[in-house]
Amino acid sequence: MHTPKITVIGSINMDLMTVAENMPEQGETISGESFKTLPGGKGANQAVAAARLGAEVHMIGKVGDDPFGAALIDNFESQGIRIEAVETEPGVSSGLANIIVSDQDNRIIIIAGANGEMHPGYIDKFKERIEASDYILIQFEIPKRTVEHILDLCETLDVPVIINPAPAMQLDDAYWGKATYITPNDNEAKKLFAYDTDDLPKFLDKLVITNGAKGASFFRGDRMITVPSEKVEVTDTTGAGDTFNGALAVALAEGKALEEAVGFANKAASLSVQKLGAQSGMPKRSEME
Ligand code: ATP
Repeated sequence: MHTPKITVIGSINMDLMTVAENMPEQGETISGESFKTLPGGKGANQAVAAARLGAEVHMIGKVGDDPFGAALIDNFESQGIRIEAVETEPGVSSGLANIIVSDQDNRIIIIAGANGEMHPGYIDKFKERIEASDYILIQFEIPKRTVEHILDLCETLDVPVIINPAPAMQLDDAYWGKATYITPNDNEAKKLFAYDTDDLPKFLDKLVITNGAKGASFFRGDRMITVPSEKVEVTDTTGAGDTFNGALAVALAEGKALEEAVGFANKAASLSVQKLGAQSGMPKRSEME
């Protein structure tokens, strides 16, 4: 079997995770319990998921000129992800997710940082890389006009593209129409494609809708087919959706039919939720057998 070539165009973040027993009140300073940094961002997570499953993965993205940027690049290298198209943006911070976890509550502030500097012209520098890919995988943590530009480019170059529309953002129908597959979770499908109404959702033939422990669904004609997940002991569902998307791209690039590819992606995601952390729980190909 040929090694699938996946190019992920998207966000690269450092997650800064503070754990405290309680949330501070307004104006209050409290002592917390622990702090750690974890590589994240939907783009980077999906790249790691695809690389672990044996694909040749190229990342197109930006980091800031701070120590997090260097650490994020090291992380890609340690996963065997190709970083020729990951540039360091001067004078800007890396993408960050400031996460506070307490017993009762989670609070997160995302700073786009260098991810916000992913302009359409930057993507054009890597046209050849895009054209040489079996599948392109994108999410919505980069500017909207860049997303639109990537979709135009993939259409021109005739390269299949998966849109993981997270966080939810509406596109014109003309742009959704350029995707090969669109992979919202259940909530995003309701928001973006009127999935919970009596009418059939828009872009039926492109949708692959994930639904947590229930698995994932797609449509054959106007009939919905649900591929169930395996029943597993859940430790941490962070990154389940990213694992699903990376795995789906690998399976489709290997030429698997959609139903089999969704089963493969479910399996990878169900393995990932059994371990702590987004990237650290993502399975290797050998664990999929
Ligand atoms: P997250 O934001 O937590 O990364 P998501 O909301 O994008 O996830 P989900 O639909 O919750 O996406 O999950 C994606 C896929 O992960 C599911 O389709 C399924 O394959 C797998 N999955 C998620 N939760 C479970 C679970 N509890 N048991 C087994 N598989 C799961």
